[in-house]
Amino acid sequence: MRGAVLYGPRDVRFEEREAPKVIESTDAVIRISATCVCGSDLWPYRGIQPVTQPTPMGHEYCGIVEDVGRAVTSVKPGQFVIGSFFASDNTCPNCRAGYQSSCQRKEFVGTAQAGRLRVPLADGTLVATPAVPSDDLIPSLLTLSDVMGTGWFAAEAANVKPGTTVAVVGDGAVGLLGVLSASQRGAERIIAMSRHESRQRLAREFGATDIVTERGDEGVARIKELTKGVGADAVLECVGTQESMMQAMRSTRPGGSVGYVGVPHGVELNGEELFYAHVRLHGGPAPVRRFLPELIDLVWNRKINPGKVFDLTLPLDQVAEGYRAMDERRAIKTLLRP
Ligand SMILES: [Zn+2]
Repeated sequence: MRGAVLYGPRDVRFEEREAPKVIESTDAVIRISATCVCGSDLWPYRGIQPVTQPTPMGHEYCGIVEDVGRAVTSVKPGQFVIGSFFASDNTCPNCRAGYQSSCQRKEFVGTAQAGRLRVPLADGTLVATPAVPSDDLIPSLLTLSDVMGTGWFAAEAANVKPGTTVAVVGDGAVGLLGVLSASQRGAERIIAMSRHESRQRLAREFGATDIVTERGDEGVARIKELTKGVGADAVLECVGTQESMMQAMRSTRPGGSVGYVGVPHGVELNGEELFYAHVRLHGGPAPVRRFLPELIDLVWNRKINPGKVFDLTLPLDQVAEGYRAMDERRAIKTLLRP
């Protein structure tokens, strides 16, 4: 079986890897229908997160179950399934509280840019769709594995409710789907922060009412201007840099909330600023498993079309070009078909 392996900065190869098989009785092996490149894959790709050894890549996936271990009862061969980037048992206290990405038995699922994938803890991790989907639904179903679930979590963590004013920092796939999530949750006003025309267009399609092109302090000033000087009720931080986190915190009104889902790189918070800001912070790796049934339903019934974030589709063997296009911001997100 061939799959993507990252060797070092900007060096992704598509090469022969050992085919996955059922090892534990709780495993499933799925044949990948579609996978993709994540914004967070760009951190190691750009060398910001060091790569010490050849590393198989990919943590977003959906596909057909091929084989299951003898203890697996909730999914069976032939079903189309979606799972999270963290395998979870869905039974421990953290899972029961809705935080499957903090499962006491969590395992990262990180080898999905390949033809086949082993998924541990299959019963707790995978959710089957009502039937094998038609091809046009696959991109949207794939987003539920990470980016849509992450945008949804950002909106929930920021306490987006009907009537609220929301600002979204970051115009990558997660930020754009944060806009869609805020809109689904009934936000009245959604301010997307983006300076790229194609992304602004998609943000508007997903429900953004205002676009702010300024960044940093100027971006904050612009949000204040748009909100009678107080800031937004809810701010979604979907980048993970010091600048974006500060922009998010300072754009939030006292009593408001920041939902942060960008994987932080070098972010440090100042205790005194945090103290006087009067904002709630909640975030982390999204427990996308919790949202899968609800989001599958929305996609299945064609209420949402998050698959629009894929503006480049490539055969899996061109995975290196998929990374390049996202690194150079020629593509928002690359879909890969084995
Ligand atoms: Zn658990």
